[in-house]
Amino acid sequence: MIPASFDYVRATSLSQAIGLLQDDPDNTKLLAGGHTLIPTLKLRLASPTLLVDLGSIDELRGIDIGDHIRIGALTRHAELLASEKLREALPIFHQAASMIADPQVRNRGTIGGRWPTPTHRPTGLP
Ligand SMILES: Cc1cc2nc3c(=O)[nH]c(=O)nc-3n(C[C@H](O)[C@H](O)[C@H](O)COP(=O)(O)OP(=O)(O)OC[C@H]3O[C@@H](n4cnc5c(N)ncnc54)[C@H](O)[C@@H]3O)c2cc1C
Repeated sequence: MIPASFDYVRATSLSQAIGLLQDDPDNTKLLAGGHTLIPTLKLRLASPTLLVDLGSIDELRGIDIGDHIRIGALTRHAELLASEKLREALPIFHQAASMIADPQVRNRGTIGGRWPTPTHRPTGLP
């Protein structure tokens, strides 16, 4: 199965990605780990004309724990699982990540990519 053709941009900042999305929201898709989106494109269940790759946007990565807990949208399930600080502060995220699929999915799939897609009910989360 081959996706329909599309343009591809590897965004280097959050503002660039948001700008591209705002330019044509109906025909633009954001790409994170690709675990859900790539099969969707291959099956032609979506046919965006522009794919905006978020993979180089460092400000979307990481887990910060202080007065507040901030989890970047590009944080992978495996990173949630590996963070001892998150496990102590908010165990539900660690528990949920441990139940998602297998290491291959957890090593590429991101928490930001998890929420928009209805294909799998979020594991362990309400
Ligand atoms: C074999 C398999 C088993 C799985 N098992 C489970 C499971 O047991 N439990 C579970 O909860 N999930 C499961 N999943 C789902 C998995 O968690 C998601 O596929 C994954 O997290 C999607 O993340 P991604 O980074 O690959 O997203 P992508 O595939 O890149 O994107 C998915 C969607 O999210 C949008 N998107 C991505 N990033 C953002 C962002 N930052 N802001 C706004 N929109 C964004 C994309 O445009 C796209 O519509 C499974 C997936 C697979 C392939």
